[in-house]
Amino acid sequence: MTVDVSRRALLRGRFDRTASLRPPWACDESVFTAHCTQCADCLQACETGIIVRDAGGFPQVDFHRGECTFCQACVAVCDAPVFRDPERYPPWPQVAEIGQTCLGPQGIYCRSCGESCEAGAIRFVFNAHRVPEPRVDTEACTGCGACVAICPTQAITVGPPMPSRREEAP
Ligand code: SF4
Ligand code: SF4
Ligand code: SF4
Repeated sequence: MTVDVSRRALLRGRFDRTASLRPPWACDESVFTAHCTQCADCLQACETGIIVRDAGGFPQVDFHRGECTFCQACVAVCDAPVFRDPERYPPWPQVAEIGQTCLGPQGIYCRSCGESCEAGAIRFVFNAHRVPEPRVDTEACTGCGACVAICPTQAITVGPPMPSRREEAP
């Protein structure tokens, strides 16, 4: 089996926040799409129902449907060689990012994302409007996506961290 794990391909997949987000512990994109049979067993196994098909028929995570509990059911049900060993690797390098439609910078009080984050990865600082404004602690963020659907302005996305953050993550 030939596996394309060139650094260029790795970086392109890791830092492209617009790419389909595969289930946790998924191998690199070229390996995943080469071996995933699109059987949809992982869609059925996911306890929170966040795995859907992307435009090409491959599984992707949609955090607007819920959060990842890291239950590993998707990995366990899959017969294809498209997942890393959960006992040896972290689920993914994904972290939350808060975009420009966040209410805080606009002077409107909102703590919805912080209240949804069990990891305590969202901290609030006070801005010129004297209202709390969220900041993501990327070291504490697990990329679970629980903060995505709760945001009233859809300001939060979860995707690969910027190169300056976790470039060394496996
Ligand atoms: S269970 Fe495995 S082979 Fe089937 S769709 Fe999911 S990732 Fe692909
Ligand atoms: S780890 Fe569990 S909750 Fe997360 S995508 Fe897989 S099956 Fe769904
Ligand atoms: S993705 Fe999960 S851990 Fe990260 S900030 Fe959102 S709720 Fe917290």
